[in-house]
Parts: sequence; structure tokens; C-alpha cells
Amino acid sequence: MHEKRPTIRESIRNFSILSPYFYQSRIPLAIGLLSLLAVDLLQLVVPLIIKRSVDDLAAGQANGRTLLLYAAAIMCIAIAIGGLRYVWRIGIFGLSRKIEMGLRNEMFSRMLTLSPSFFQKNPTGDLMARAVNDINAVRMASGMGLVAMIDATVLGVASIAFMLSIDVRLTLICLIPGPFVVIMGRKLTRRMSVGFEKVQQAFSGLTERVREGFTGIRIIKANAKEPWQFERVRKEGEQYIKENMTLARTMALFFPVMAVFTNLGLAIVLWMGGRLTISGSISPGDLVAFTNYLNIMAWPIMAMGWVANLIQRGGASLKRIRSVVEQMPEVEDGAIVLNPAEISGKIRFNNFSFRYDDQNEFILRGINLEIPPGQTAALVGRVGSGKSTLLSALPRLLTIPGGAVFIDQHDITSLSLKSLRKSMGFVTQDVFIFSDTVRNNVLMGRQHIKEGRVEEVLELAQIWDEVSSLEKGLDTLVGERGITLSGGQRQRLTIARALLEDPPVLIMDDALSMVDSRTEEKILSNIIRARAGKTTLITTHRIATLKSVERILVMEKGELLEDGDHGGLLAMGGIYSTIYESKAIEAELEREAS
Ligand code: ATP
Ligand code: MG
Repeated sequence: MHEKRPTIRESIRNFSILSPYFYQSRIPLAIGLLSLLAVDLLQLVVPLIIKRSVDDLAAGQANGRTLLLYAAAIMCIAIAIGGLRYVWRIGIFGLSRKIEMGLRNEMFSRMLTLSPSFFQKNPTGDLMARAVNDINAVRMASGMGLVAMIDATVLGVASIAFMLSIDVRLTLICLIPGPFVVIMGRKLTRRMSVGFEKVQQAFSGLTERVREGFTGIRIIKANAKEPWQFERVRKEGEQYIKENMTLARTMALFFPVMAVFTNLGLAIVLWMGGRLTISGSISPGDLVAFTNYLNIMAWPIMAMGWVANLIQRGGASLKRIRSVVEQMPEVEDGAIVLNPAEISGKIRFNNFSFRYDDQNEFILRGINLEIPPGQTAALVGRVGSGKSTLLSALPRLLTIPGGAVFIDQHDITSLSLKSLRKSMGFVTQDVFIFSDTVRNNVLMGRQHIKEGRVEEVLELAQIWDEVSSLEKGLDTLVGERGITLSGGQRQRLTIARALLEDPPVLIMDDALSMVDSRTEEKILSNIIRARAGKTTLITTHRIATLKSVERILVMEKGELLEDGDHGGLLAMGGIYSTIYESKAIEAELEREAS
């Protein structure tokens, strides 16, 4: 997949988002640039000294003292160049590292504000690659690219000027291979950068396969699929080597081709310039200086293509980075800021219909529902009936229209996202445990939590006994770098996390699917008791646990069809009683089988 390359002009426009960084580091940058210029100028002085000494030698005027003087001058220049190189590297490369860090932070903090739909449209692998490769390309362009551009311009123009001052005709003839070198250089560097991209793609493919192999190791082993997985990794590895070889071939071509052209220039100088020296129109020192300048110039000419490439790539990367950094979250923040304590927890859906982007079918149709503050209500319905979709509208994980969903008297789209989300706890079936201690997994950065509260919520979630029996208790590391928790333990830990601040609204969407029904009932009754006076919404597939829940809402194909308590709904003989009976038969069969 190849995007159209932007023109240099467009690239420069993309670079404009870097201007704050350049401005911030303007002093080190200025010092760096001045040192870079000084290095270039000093480099150009060396051939002049050589010229003087050769001319003195040829004229028989040189003696030990003058030669020592020339040698000393060259030494001093070399030392000065060394020192100044150090200064510009720190100044300019330092800036490019700052840009790298700044862009990464800007990107990541922006991504955190984007809606879940953004992450559904952009696969994680893409976002990671963007973060790594694109930021790298920008760093290269703003560091190495900037240096090479200045270097090439100053050295190129100045050495041509010096050559012209020695002999105009000779200069013009020497420059004949120049355009070829520029064209070839550009062609080859372009091929190299395409090759390089492909190598990187192949590498991320390979790492992804290996990662997948390790995370899925249990499944692979349980199915005795090691050879299958090995073959998949081997194939990716083969592709990676193939791309590397293509790149190596292009690179192997670059230097010899360039050397042929530069030596061609040298041959012309020796042959033509030698004759000019013999005829006395230029001095032997001129000839030597000339070849020196030709050498100095070879690199800028070769670098031109490379620089143009670096800058174009950097620009294309910046464009992609801009598309993230300037992306507006689809879900817009509302203006009203509320403290969770000010929210009573009344919820109202007003003729709410919803369909996901790029789909024509409505998933929710005309939902009208009012839940008074403090009520515990359970949503039930067959798989895919829209329960999760309805619940995820409340914290605005969906892009919803105004006038459809209210909390207390507020349209939720008018509330600030932070106030809205701080007022509710949200637990879903797919739990996420951070690689950290049990305590930090519950706290998740929240401070000023009163002593003993963590233990209390773990107790409510029926997991305190298990935690306290661990050797390090609350300080036990869990997740990737700690002990592995079972599915049910993870779910209960996540529930404790949501209970911590006792939010005005608690939503548990299939949050207990991995615990047994006795524990589920226990946790539910704990929560109902502890949250008396606060609104709680749950969904579950185990209808039997809902007997004590005051209100049950039945959904079917995106519509809310029944509303009542367990007894009432059973007596009604509708969908609820059908589901209840089929579940009862299932439970019976299960009991018989065990
Ligand atoms: P379950 O009992 O299995 O949890 P549910 O009642 O929670 O089911 P939802 O998850 O709300 O059902 O899904 C309702 C419908 O919406 C399904 O047909 C599903 O395919 C579709 N759906 C859910 N999420 C998305 C999404 N992000 N994009 C497109 N369609 C979706
Ligand atoms: Mg669901």
C-alpha cells in the first residue's frame, strides 16, 4: 500500500506543526546551526592551505618552518571542526529528540481522548506502527535532514564557487556528470526508502506472529499445533529476509555507482587540469585544491536525493501524525460540569433509536424508559438483542444524538464527559487487569480513598478471602508480570474497582458471566444492599439470579417489550417466561448430567 508522495511544498506545510518545537529550542538550535556553518566554512579553508603549501613547494620557497606552520594550521582547524561538530550535534539532534518526545506525548494524549469508534476503525497494529515509524521518520527529517540540507547547500555552492575562481572552463566540464549523479542518487535512495519500508512492514508482521504465538501458547499446545504455528512464523521470517536482501542489493548498487561518477569527475580534472597546469594557466596548488573541492562537493551532490527523500518521508509521516493529533473526538464534550454528589441517578431514555456507523439496520428502536433514582433494574433478552448497546449509551461510548438520553434533568450530551463518566461505574464482560498490584488495580490512580475501603469493596465483590490469603495480600502483583488470575477473579476485581467510589449509577453488563451462579447471587445481593438508594443497572444471562431484583426489563430485537418484576413477568406469559422456562430446562439438564 503506497500513498501518493506529497510534493516538497506540501511537505513543508506539514512541517509547520513543528514550529513550536523549533521556537522553544531556538537558542540551542541557533548555536547548533552557527556551529554547523562554521564547520562547513572551516572545511572549505583546508584546500586553500594545501594549495598554498603545494605552490610554495613547487616554487621551491617551502622550508621546514613554513611547512610546520601549514601543518599546524590544518591541525588547529581539525580540532576546531571536532569541537564544533560536537556542539551542532547536541544542538540539532537534541532538538530532533525533543520533537520525537513531544510528538509522541501529543499523539498519545490525543488518542486517549478519542472515541471507541476511532479504535475500532484503526487497528492497534496500525496505531503502533504510526507511533514508532512515523515519529522516527520525523526525527530523521528534522535532525539529519536539516543538517544534510544545510550542509549540502553550503558545501555545494561554496565549493563550486571556489572551483569557478580557479578555472571556469574546468569547473563546467567537471560538473557534466553532476546531473547524472543527482538523478541516479535520487532514484536509488527512493528505491532504498521503499525497500526500507517493506523491511519494516515485514518485521512488524514477524513480531506480530511471534507475539501471537506466545500469548496463544496454551491454545497451541492444547491442540498440538506447534508445527502449524512454527510454519506461520517461518513464513514471515522468510519474507523478512527476502525484503532485506532486496534492500541490500539496492544499497550495494548505490555506492559503486556513485563512486564511478565521482571518479569520472576526478579523471576529467587530472587529464584536463593537468594539461592546464602544464600550460601554466593554473598552478599545481590550484590543481590539488581543485581535486579537493571536487571531493567535498561529491557528498552534497549524492546527498541531494537522499535529503529530498528524508524530507518527503518526514512530511508524509507528519501528515499522518497530524491526522491523529488534529482529530476531533467524535463524541463532543458538553459544557455542564457536575460533581457526582450532585447527581441523584435518575435515568431516562426518550424515544432513543440507534444504529452503528456504516450500518443500515437500527440496533435500538424507540426506547422509552425511565428509571427512578435508587432503583436496581435488570435488562434481559436474547443474545444480540441490544442490551450492551443500550447500556454503553449512558457513558457515551456511542455517538448519540441530543434529546435522547437523560441523567437527572440533564441531557447527557450537555454534560462534560468527565462529569458524566465520573458519575457512573461501568463494568463489562471483557475485563482488563493492569500489570500492577491488586490495590492499584482497584484504585486505578484514585486518591483520598478512605482507609479500609479497598478491602470493603473486595469483600462486596466476594474476592477478599482470596486476596487476603495471598502472601502479599493487596500488594500482590497481578497481570502480565504477576500472578495470573482466573476469569472469575478478574471479573470480581473489576467489580470492586467500579464500586470503590460508590458512584450514583452503576452499570454491570454481563459482569459476572465467569463466576458460578451461587457467587453471582451473593454478589448481587451484596451490591443491592450496599447501594441502597443508588441506581444500579445490570444485565445477565442467568435469569434465576434475578428473583430478588425489583425491576426487570425485557429486550427483543432492539425493542423494550416487557417491564415488571419476576413474578409479574412470569404471570404475563410473554418473552420473559419463555426465556425463563428454557433456562430452567437447561439448568435441570445440567443438574442431571452432573
Ligand atoms: P449479548 O447478550 O450477547 O451480550 P447484547 O444484547 O448485549 O448481546 P449487543 O452487544 O448490544 O447485544 O449487540 C446488538 C447488535 O449490535 C448485534 O447484532 C451486534 O452484532 C451489533 N453490534 C454490537 N456492537 C457493534 C459495533 N461496534 N459495530 C457494529 N455492530 C455492532
Ligand atoms: Mg452484551
